[in-house]
Amino acid sequence: MRTFDIIVVGGGHAGCEAAAAAARMGAATLLLTHKVETIGEMSCNPAIGGLGKGHLVREIDALDGLMGRVIDRGGIQFRILNRSKGPAVRGPRAQADRRLYREAMQAALAEQPNLTIDGQAVEDLLTHEGRITGVVTAGGEGIRAGAVVLTTGTFLRGLIHLGEEKTPAGRIGEPPSLGLSAALSRLGFPLGRLKTGTPPRLDGRTIDWAALESQPGDEPPPPFSTLTDKITTPQVACAVTWTTPEAHALIRANLHRAPMYSGQIQGTGPRYCPSIEDKVVRFADKDRHQIFLEPEGLDDPTVYPNGISTSLPRDVQLGILASMPGLEKVVMLRPGYAIEYDFVDPRELKATLETKRVPGLFFAGQINGTTGYEEAAAQGLMAGINAALTVGGNADGFVLDRADAYIGVMIDDLITRGTNEPYRMFTSRAEYRLLLRADNADQRLTPKGISVGCVGSIRADAFERKAVALEAGRALVRALSATPSDLQRQGLNVNQDGVRRTAADLLRYPDLDVAALARVWPDLTAIGGAVAEQLEIDAKYAGYLERQDADIRAFRKDEALALPADLDVAGIGSLSAEIRQKLIQVRPETLGAAARIPGMTPAALVALLRHVKRRDVRAAG
Ligand code: FAD
Repeated sequence: MRTFDIIVVGGGHAGCEAAAAAARMGAATLLLTHKVETIGEMSCNPAIGGLGKGHLVREIDALDGLMGRVIDRGGIQFRILNRSKGPAVRGPRAQADRRLYREAMQAALAEQPNLTIDGQAVEDLLTHEGRITGVVTAGGEGIRAGAVVLTTGTFLRGLIHLGEEKTPAGRIGEPPSLGLSAALSRLGFPLGRLKTGTPPRLDGRTIDWAALESQPGDEPPPPFSTLTDKITTPQVACAVTWTTPEAHALIRANLHRAPMYSGQIQGTGPRYCPSIEDKVVRFADKDRHQIFLEPEGLDDPTVYPNGISTSLPRDVQLGILASMPGLEKVVMLRPGYAIEYDFVDPRELKATLETKRVPGLFFAGQINGTTGYEEAAAQGLMAGINAALTVGGNADGFVLDRADAYIGVMIDDLITRGTNEPYRMFTSRAEYRLLLRADNADQRLTPKGISVGCVGSIRADAFERKAVALEAGRALVRALSATPSDLQRQGLNVNQDGVRRTAADLLRYPDLDVAALARVWPDLTAIGGAVAEQLEIDAKYAGYLERQDADIRAFRKDEALALPADLDVAGIGSLSAEIRQKLIQVRPETLGAAARIPGMTPAALVALLRHVKRRDVRAAG
């Protein structure tokens, strides 16, 4: 029987990161996926990043994950969303050439030592005395491993809906995964049903581009990865069109044929990424919705109409398209569709993404109720690292908290609250978002990644060089100072209070940057672009962050209070039946996590704390 340290099932966004991270950590890793040629496939929109999601990609990159580097090779339009707002809520985004992205991901995995890739479906899981011991493939091969990471995306009992038609599939043209759903049920995992959808695809050669507003990317294109100096892939523009009152009338007239409204779909869809039929019903007062026309590749005529996901029948989809400006003569290459699939209640997971029920078994990605490539990739990375730590005998695992990273926010949300709709990341989910910025992801996370062992030497060296340059830059801006009258003579308007100001003080002013200060102190011209930007943003946020520090310390105090895994909830007399039930379901690992369970009361937390302290005293005696 073949034996590996770790088996990762699924070569989607979660699986690629999980497999690469586990292998980077030194574990002998096997990636099993349906088809090697679909590794890195983007099931829906050809884009990476955006608001909240872009932060996740920068964090993945900071931990030496692949997504940032891969989109830098496959991206054909890069933009920073929310550029006019503060750096904390800016979202880096890139549109991808689907093929280039896939190829770049496959190349990155092929270069990864310790990683074997096999194109086989997994049908069953092997356990011994409750612990995972391996998998069984569709061909009947048993393969042993110390840990297994499941990243099967939308494939578990996947069912595609297109109008009244229903087809079992994991995504268009690919079979669903039925055996694994049955295996998970057998092991006692509670499965739920969710749904997501995709728009029709258009032939770009039949779009009247001249009639539409063009939307170019940023110039120069801003890369995702700190390891990328420059984007060299050719860039393209998108275009903007709108739905029309005519299209809305057609949708209303055909709602009875939409699987979401006819009762054919039972799963809940993404609230923040609704289908066009859902938008027309929910926002009935709007007579048009903006649609972005995004090319799917440099030498591919396919265009993705972003914002018009639908599972209405083909004829209705065609009618909607033909009523939109620029699409009057458009040829539809493929209709949109919806897909329903099984997911596992993420409250089954520890913060390491290992399941509480079956030691050694990890879940990451859409299987945990999330939606989106970035959410999946971030979980995959964490599951891969933790699976490697587990087989290496490290029981503590690698956990990021809500003040460390958006990754920590997402995992904590999932494991303490669960989800009953596809979960996606937003900046508003993070309470410490002034700290968790996309620009400082490397400063926050790369040192942690280096100490856990998931960061390779190229990134570690680059980080070290940047750290030295940043320290020198910080020392320089603290050392340079001038009187208000000197500054005024140089054209800088400051309060004439006689107090000397350092360059570091001046960087806190909203309208001053390193380039402006270099007119006063030419030595500052020696500071490179990335370091200058970091100094400027750090200075502007310093005051806010000092104030946030106390909140973070209080939060971490509760996080440090670990609750025992065998907590006897029934023995805590003063809890209501409802709270007791929630504690049994979530089994929080810390007092902080218990406090975040929806419906938890201050009185219940005090009772919990008292119980744990009494138990500690008894154990010590
Ligand atoms: P996937 O990318 O789905 O990858 C799963 C991988 O596992 C595949 O490679 C598959 O072949 C493999 N696999 C599955 N079962 C087995 C098995 N038994 N054995 C071996 N290999 C297996 N996200 C959004 O953010 N916005 C959207 O609008 C959106 N729309 C979507 C529309 C559709 C139709 C689909 C299918 C997905 C959509 N998504 C959307 C979701 C997005 O594709 C996922 O969030 C993301 O791909 C999840 O990544 P993953 O790694 O968890 O799974």
